[in-house]
Order: sequence, then C-alpha cells, then structure tokens
Amino acid sequence: MITLKTDDEIELLRAANLLVSATLTEIAKIVRPGVTTRQIDALAEQFIRDHGATPTFKGFPSSFGGPFPSSVCTSVNEVVVHGIPNDRELVDGDIVSVDCGTCLNGFCGDSCYTFCVGEVSAEVKQLLRVTKESLYKGIEQAIPGHRIGDIGDAVESHVYKYGYGVVRELTGHGIGHEMHEEPQVPNYGKRGSGKLIKNGLCIAIEPMITMGKRNIALLPDRWGFITCDRKPAAHFEHTIAVHHGKVDILSSFCQIEEIENQKY
Ligand code: MG
Ligand code: MG
Repeated sequence: MITLKTDDEIELLRAANLLVSATLTEIAKIVRPGVTTRQIDALAEQFIRDHGATPTFKGFPSSFGGPFPSSVCTSVNEVVVHGIPNDRELVDGDIVSVDCGTCLNGFCGDSCYTFCVGEVSAEVKQLLRVTKESLYKGIEQAIPGHRIGDIGDAVESHVYKYGYGVVRELTGHGIGHEMHEEPQVPNYGKRGSGKLIKNGLCIAIEPMITMGKRNIALLPDRWGFITCDRKPAAHFEHTIAVHHGKVDILSSFCQIEEIENQKY
C-alpha cells in the first residue's frame, strides 16, 4: 500500500535527507587516491550519529544473507550497488558510489552519489554525467497525473542513446518511516503505465546504469552486485516528494558538486 505523506511529514523527510546530503558532502571532501572505503564508512557513521540520527543501512536485513555490516554502501567501479566498505585503498581513475541512509526523528533519508577518484577517463566521466542526467529526467516526470512508468521510461530513453545498460533487478522505492515502502520505482518502463502519481507521494529515484551490458551478479559476500562483464556502473539517487502539484527534491547534490568542481 502506498502511504501518501502530509506536508509536516515531508518536512521531517527533508531533514533526514538533508542530513544524508551533508554526510555525502563530508565524504566528498575526503575522497581521493589512498583513502579506503572503510575510512569513508567511519566518517559517515560518526557524522550521522553526531547529528542525532542513526545510519539506516547498519544492520539492515538482507534477502540473501546476514545484516549489512556498515553505515554506507561503497561500490567501486564494476560493483553496481551494496558494496561493503573494506581496506582496499582507492586509486587514481576509480569511481566510488556512496549510498547513504539516515533515520532522523522517525523518518528516513536515502541518497547516493558516484564520486571520481583522481583523474577518471573521459569515457567513465560520460557514464557519470549521463546517469546523473537520467536521474533528473526521471524526477521531471514525478508530477500528479503522471504514472510511475513515466519515470522509468524517461531514465531508460536517455541512457539508451549512449548504449548503456539499465539494471532491472533493483529499483527505486517509496520512502517514509521505512526506507523501502511501496511503490517500487523501476528505471525502465512504459509511458502511461504503473501506479498513478499523486500529491503526497514520496519516493527515492535511483538509476543504476552500466557502461556495458545490464546483467549483474551477486558477490560472494551476499551483498554487493557486480556487472557480469566487469565494466563500470554508476548510481545516483535523490529522494523526492510530490506536493502542491510539483516535485520537490528533498536531498541535494549542491554542496557535493561545489567540492567536486573545486577538485577537478
Ligand atoms: Mg540509497
Ligand atoms: Mg534507495
């Protein structure tokens, strides 16, 4: 069942999401060659707890194995999503998707940004740019009267122009008191199909886009998903609310992008 949110609830969701964005901004400041994803995780957990929230991902139950051991997912290069932070140092030319969730005052935040590490190839930079563009193309469709399928159609039509793949096994989702609520929000779909979008709908839209084929496989840790062809994948995610006839993006990349622009 889809739970539509009141304006007051949307403000609480915004607070949880802005904390995710602030956490990702802190991470943007330290991402560089030589840093480990475990260091990124430690920074995120401390920052989230210092702000009176809990990292939603820590201990999150899996459909495949044990609870998630860390506070953020760090997915490097060919790892698409749900990468477990570890002690491998990031190297020049890597990309790392950091997916972060918070629970603050009973509401969840969820957002992801794919960072460049040092100098990244033009080919990979294009993958990141196009994936982020596809997120905003999807968001534009989230207005009352449209349908969930319009979001997926907008995402996939954009990335297919570049020959990229759209991961189908994992989707965006409703969000509120729980990180994953109804409805599912696939990154593919038919225009005019799926659930009707109404005021009060709050969802996370999160294209997971592969440079090569869309097929993915589960890693032996039972969490991470990797591209079968080992080509890189990108992941950008915003939580949005539909209200007063418009789309309102509750998370923000503004400060992250300012730091990224200073670095590169
Ligand atoms: Mg996420
Ligand atoms: Mg999500």
